[in-house]
Amino acid sequence: MRKKTQMIHGGIPNDPHTGAVSVPIYQVSTYKQESVGNFKGYEYSRTGNPTRFALEELIKDLEGGKKGFAFGSGMAAITAIMMLFNSGDHVVLTDDVYGGTYRVMTKVLNRLGIDSTFVDTSDISKIEGAIKPNTKAVYIETPTNPLLKVTDVKAAVEVGKKHNLLTIVDNTFSTPYWQNPISLGADIVLHSATKYLGGHSDVVAGLVVVNSDELAQDLHFVLNSTGGILGPQDSWLLMRGIKTLALRMEETESNTKRIVDFLVNHPSVSKVYYPGLESHPNHEVAKRQASGFGGMISFDVGSEEMADKLLAKTKYFTLAESLGAVESLISVPARMTHASIPPERRQELGITDGLVRISVGLEDVEDLIEDLENALSI
Ligand SMILES: *Cc1c(COP(=O)(O)O)cnc(C)c1O
Repeated sequence: MRKKTQMIHGGIPNDPHTGAVSVPIYQVSTYKQESVGNFKGYEYSRTGNPTRFALEELIKDLEGGKKGFAFGSGMAAITAIMMLFNSGDHVVLTDDVYGGTYRVMTKVLNRLGIDSTFVDTSDISKIEGAIKPNTKAVYIETPTNPLLKVTDVKAAVEVGKKHNLLTIVDNTFSTPYWQNPISLGADIVLHSATKYLGGHSDVVAGLVVVNSDELAQDLHFVLNSTGGILGPQDSWLLMRGIKTLALRMEETESNTKRIVDFLVNHPSVSKVYYPGLESHPNHEVAKRQASGFGGMISFDVGSEEMADKLLAKTKYFTLAESLGAVESLISVPARMTHASIPPERRQELGITDGLVRISVGLEDVEDLIEDLENALSI
C-alpha cells in the first residue's frame, strides 16, 4: 500500500461492529464482562479503548513498526518513553531538542536519577563521545527546532547498536509521510501529534511506535501504570486529521519552497535555515533519509527590534507557539518556545534574538509572500 492510500486505509479503516466508515468515538470508561475476566478485548479505557486502538493501529502502520501508543500530549509520550529507564541510567540527546524535552530531562527526570547529556547529534562523533558506561539510549530530534539541523538516523543507529543502546527519534517535523525512522533502524519513534498529524490546531496529543514486542509490552505497562492516555474524542480528531496528512504535507512543502526562495533573496534576511537548501550543511543527509524537507523555516532578521516589527506587521502569519497546522504561524524561539533554555545556552546554539521561525500553512502562497514582503519592508 502506498503512503497516500495508507493514510486513508491504514489501521482499522472502519468499525468492525457496524461497518461505519469512520471509526466511532467510543466514549466509554468500562466494559461489561460476561464472567470474571471474560471480556471482548477491552476491560477499562485507561488500559485500552477501541477509538484509541484504531488510532494506535494507524500510526503503527504509517511508521512501519510493531505497536503504536497514543498519549495525552507529546510530552506525556516522551516522559513515558523515559520511564523505560531506571534511576542511574543516562541518555544522550540532540542539543537543540524541543524546549519541553530539555526541561523534562533537566528539571524533572534528573530528580528521579535519569541523567542526560546534550550534544550536536548532526555530528555523529559527538554521540560516540558522550556515551558513558550507564548510557541506555540515544534520543534524536531531526530536523530540529528551530535550527533545522538534521541527524543521520542510520549512522546514529549504528553507533547505538555498537553500544547496545536504544535509538529514539522525535519525528514530529517530518511526519511519517516524509520520514520513517524505524525503516532506518530506530527502535522507537515519537510524535507531538499536536502538530502536523492533527494539523488543525485543535488537539494536543502524542504518538509513539515501537519496533519490538518487548518494547511494546514495556511501554504499554508504563502507559497503563502512569495513565497519560489520549481520550476517545481526541483520538478520533487525530484520525480525521491524518486522512489528509499527505495532501497537507505536499501543499505545505510546495508553499515552503517558494517562501524559502523569497527569503534567501531578501536583503533584510541574513540567514535562512531550511534543509531543502543546497547550502544547508546537512542537505545531503536530509535528501537521503527523508522524501521531503517539510514546512518549517527559520531565518535571521538581525535584531529583536526587526523581529518585533515583522511580527506586528504580518497579517496571515499568526503569532503563536506550535506548528504544523493549516494556518501559517510565526514565532520568535528565543522568547517563546525556547525561553526555558538559559540565554547563554541559546547563544551557544545560535538561537539569536533576531531568529524568526515560521510554520508554513495552506493559504495561497502569493498572499503569504506578499505579506512577508510588506512586513519586511522598512
Ligand atoms: C511540540 C513538540 C513536542 C511536545 O509536544 P506537545 O504535544 O506539545 O506536548 C515535542 N517535540 C517536538 C519536536 C515538538 O514540536
